[in-house]
Amino acid sequence: MRYGIFSDVHANLEALKAVLCAYKKENIDIYLCIGDVVGYGADPNECVELVKKTAMITVAGNHDWASVDLFPVDYFNPQAKQAILWTKDNLSEQSRYFLESLKPVYKNKDLILVHGTLENPAEFDYMLDGYTANVTFQLMDTHLCFVGHSHIAGIFIQDQAKRIYYQEVNHLKLEDKSKYIINVGSVGQPRDGNPSSAYCIYDTDKKEIFIKRVDYDIQTAYTKILTAGLPKSLAERILVGG
Ligand code: ZN
Repeated sequence: MRYGIFSDVHANLEALKAVLCAYKKENIDIYLCIGDVVGYGADPNECVELVKKTAMITVAGNHDWASVDLFPVDYFNPQAKQAILWTKDNLSEQSRYFLESLKPVYKNKDLILVHGTLENPAEFDYMLDGYTANVTFQLMDTHLCFVGHSHIAGIFIQDQAKRIYYQEVNHLKLEDKSKYIINVGSVGQPRDGNPSSAYCIYDTDKKEIFIKRVDYDIQTAYTKILTAGLPKSLAERILVGG
């Protein structure tokens, strides 16, 4: 089985299209989305449509829920808040229905998906350090948990002796006795200094994880954000991936 797992599209249609196009060469069996389909970018409805059509499962992100009043908008910085209010005003009925239906956690025999952490899935904490990772490791009944939210791809590894490591690698061979928390990075708003879209592949037969990057038409996404009247800083950050 080959999973295509992606996160944090953030209403960036150009980035989402580039990622889905790149996935076409990867023989993906099942697509999964780790949330934040909307927020920041100018194409929320188009992105919801495409994600709905592509991903077997999408879990809720904080922007998804905030856009349909399921999470308080006061938790966001002023630019993000402005984008959420804009998104709320521009969502179609079908998009709203889809975002309202999203659950915070998904589990199957191979993996768990959660936007933030397993400790507080509906609070959207960030998986940024070994302490937070350790709590999620303790709550995992599978070997793999895929997360998003920070927009920075990276992998927490818990080995057999329960030691925790963090690695920012683009390829990893999985070991049976270790556990992994994999942040797949962001499709629509990377924050690791590389503006290219990030996306992940999990091959269950080969026991391998890949994090890949693909260029997209950033200029068009940039112009659309400005034309929509969204904060200029949101357009500028996708140029630099920061
Ligand atoms: Zn996000």
